[in-house]
Formats: sequence, C-alpha cells, structure tokens
Amino acid sequence: MPELPEVEITKRAISSHLVKKKVLAVSAFTEMLRLPLMDGLDEDLHGRTLLHVERRGKYLLFRFDPGTIIIHLGMSGSIRIETSDTSMKKHDHLALSWTGGLSLRLNDPRRFGLVVWASGDPLQHPLLKGLGPEPLGDGFDGEYLFRRSRGRELAVKRFIMDSHTVAGVGNIYANESLFHAGIHPGRSAGNISQARYHRLAEAIREVLTRAIDLGEKKLKRWQGKGEIPTRFPLILDVYGKDGEPCNRCRTPISQIRMDGRSTYFCRKCQR
Ligand SMILES: [Zn+2]
Repeated sequence: MPELPEVEITKRAISSHLVKKKVLAVSAFTEMLRLPLMDGLDEDLHGRTLLHVERRGKYLLFRFDPGTIIIHLGMSGSIRIETSDTSMKKHDHLALSWTGGLSLRLNDPRRFGLVVWASGDPLQHPLLKGLGPEPLGDGFDGEYLFRRSRGRELAVKRFIMDSHTVAGVGNIYANESLFHAGIHPGRSAGNISQARYHRLAEAIREVLTRAIDLGEKKLKRWQGKGEIPTRFPLILDVYGKDGEPCNRCRTPISQIRMDGRSTYFCRKCQR
C-alpha cells in the first residue's frame, strides 16, 4: 500500500517532469474507482497548464488554474509517466496526455484509489477538510498529540493512524515510530505523558524522513520514464519482523492484530 513517503516521491517525480506542461487530453477507461472517476469535473482541462503538485497526507493535488485534480492511490495505485505512444497496461484507469509527448497513467488493480475534481479550494474538499496536521509540517509535535489525546481511551496506534489526528501515518510507520518511542501500540492514548508524546512525534518525523530520503536517492537515478520508483528498500526495525530478535534487546518481536492490521512490537522495549 502506498504510504506517505511513496506519495511524496510520486509528487516530486510528477513535479519535476510535468509542471508547466499543458494537458492535451484526458482519457478515462473506467467510470468508477472508490468514487466516480473525475467526479465533479465540468471544466475542460484541454490546454490547461499544470501549475504545481502538492501532497496533503496521502493525497496528491494537481493544481490547475480552474481547479485541482485530487488523487489517492488507495491500496494498490501507482503512477507511470510514459511517452504518449506507449501502449496502455491492464488496470490503467486514467491517462493524461501532455505537451512534450508525455502521458501520465494511473494504474490501480484493486480500485480503492480515487480521482476527483475540486473546483474551489481543494483543502476545503470533504476528503481533505477534516485531515489533521502534516506529520512533517508545522503544528505537529508532542504537545499537540498530548493535548489531543486527553480523555481518549483508544489504543495509541489507532490514535496516530487516524487521519484526523495526523495526516498520512500508515500502518508501517505507526509500528516503526511506536518502537522508536518505546511505546506499546495497545497503550491507551489518553494515558501517555507529554514527554513520551514528544518522543513519539520525533520518531514519526524521523521514520518518515528516513524513508523519503531513501526514495529521493532512487528518484535521482530515475530517467523520467515508466513507473515512478516508489518501491525503495525500507530500513525497518519491527514491521514484518515477528520472531526476529529486537535490534535493541534481542527479545523476539511480537505480532498481534489490531483493527485488522498487523502490529509488531517488542514486549520488553515498548511499554
Ligand atoms: Zn526490545
């Protein structure tokens, strides 16, 4: 599943290859992903210039003069940049052709992604309006997490994976950051001190930044054709490591299910 670092790398790739290019054609090959494809699009995008690309949580925002295409890659979405004459692949649902002979292809076998049009301020779109602060931006720190968690009994892992708390912390990075902060994923969110939330906010920033830096290295070697290189090797301490010795104390890593998601932790280092 594309997580925040993969979406950030996708954003950077599209920014460096398609910004300032004009749309020549929009071709949809399905009517429906998670929402109707291009729902709300009543503008003709033909001849419009891509002004810039932004990321908000795990959403990509393609900004044009009359509005914004909002894309979420869902469970299995990926974007390729091809020359316009490259043939379509199975599960390609959208093609945007650009000046310069390029074509952006959105591929999504499981169809949990979405592509919608926002004519007004995209940050006020119902999909984005309720999102919490960016984990790598201002307004996200230990004090914020501490304040927001008071009186909440839900597990801290669920708390930080809630996009209303913070935008775009997915399962892998929730597991990893809780390990780095030494916090048990099942601990009640309202029962964690401010000092520990400071460590957790720092850990979230660190694990995301480290992954983005790895992706950036791979992106530098990308020639601008084909699938955007979002499958970079991650340095993981607990995720997927059940039974392996903890990097800190050698206790075997435990695995449980929480909210249907695989959850990994060290029962000795995380309290
Ligand atoms: Zn340990």
